[in-house]
Amino acid sequence: MHYDVVIIGAGPGGLTAGIYAKSKMMNALIIEAGRVGGQLTSLYPEKGIHNYPGFETIQARKLSDRLYAQAESMGCDIRENERVTEINDGKEELLIVTKKETYHTKSVIIAIGMGSFHPKKMECPGEEKLTDKGVTYILPVKEELVGQKVVMFGGGNSAIEMALIADTVTDTTIVHRKPEFRADEANVDSLKHSNIKTIMSANVVSFNGEDSLKSVTLDQGGRKLDVPVDLAVINIGINSDLTDLKNWGIDLTAEGLVKVDFDMRTNRGGIFACGDVVDYPGKYKQIITACGEAATAVVSSYKFVKKPYWA
Ligand SMILES: Cc1cc2nc3c(=O)[nH]c(=O)nc-3n(C[C@H](O)[C@H](O)[C@H](O)COP(=O)(O)OP(=O)(O)OC[C@H]3O[C@@H](n4cnc5c(N)ncnc54)[C@H](O)[C@@H]3O)c2cc1C
Repeated sequence: MHYDVVIIGAGPGGLTAGIYAKSKMMNALIIEAGRVGGQLTSLYPEKGIHNYPGFETIQARKLSDRLYAQAESMGCDIRENERVTEINDGKEELLIVTKKETYHTKSVIIAIGMGSFHPKKMECPGEEKLTDKGVTYILPVKEELVGQKVVMFGGGNSAIEMALIADTVTDTTIVHRKPEFRADEANVDSLKHSNIKTIMSANVVSFNGEDSLKSVTLDQGGRKLDVPVDLAVINIGINSDLTDLKNWGIDLTAEGLVKVDFDMRTNRGGIFACGDVVDYPGKYKQIITACGEAATAVVSSYKFVKKPYWA
């Protein structure tokens, strides 16, 4: 199959690129290494998004569902669980290589966000053994939280926002290793006015239990605390891996992100980029930024492929 554009990554940037490409009558394929939705479905599906225009608030997984449905309904070809490993030059085309297939395309949009990502671990006794038996890195759906004693670990916006969600249905405590949160004032304020208990300046010593999590031992300035808990949600950041990018012959910044010009063009002809994987002075990594850049990347790809008289 030959495409006008192959989009790598199905986060908000990649899905928006698909929507714009189809609206320009381009034959488009989106290839996604994991599940559609990017960070929205993999890292914070339950979190409310309050800053995406058109929705006062929308759950991350619902926004992803809508973008997915829109791209699909417009006829975008979407392949999940297929990681792109190579982008090779063909005869007046580009060859996109995955373990399953080689795709032929006239242009490419790289929208791989932070690459493959994994939540950071606490690296303490009991964590590995009790993962998915009470220790988790993603907040489960609200219905599963009812009646559970939840302890959230972390001090950033994400940890506080997820604790606020859990608090609407269950007994919730947030534990942070510093004396103060590093989150937006509005979130810290909402926390203060909620029923969430806080334990500050405390480090985890161990997660305890045999077949399931029973308690967490904390160290607060040398004082040991044993906190009974059913569910420990760890939200202390993300490790990302952009190794694939290094093999694609794309010029990168010192931080290993893609350099683009104002048209979202990379140094390789016919290859464009958008979203979190792109960096430039003043870049603000947000959903709306990824979507805006996707629109620009598609127009550039359209001009490259169709060569309209007005371009
Ligand atoms: C906890 C948290 C909360 C956030 N809250 C908000 C918020 O409230 N509002 C907001 O606007 N932004 C928020 N953000 C930021 C927002 O999620 C990102 O800016 C946005 O997801 C970027 O979209 P993207 O499409 O560029 O990348 P991503 O969402 O990272 O998607 C990239 C996709 O590419 C795939 N991929 C990677 N490598 C390959 C490969 N080699 N082949 C094929 N596919 C590949 C990945 O699997 C992934 O699905 C938040 C981020 C985090 C971590």
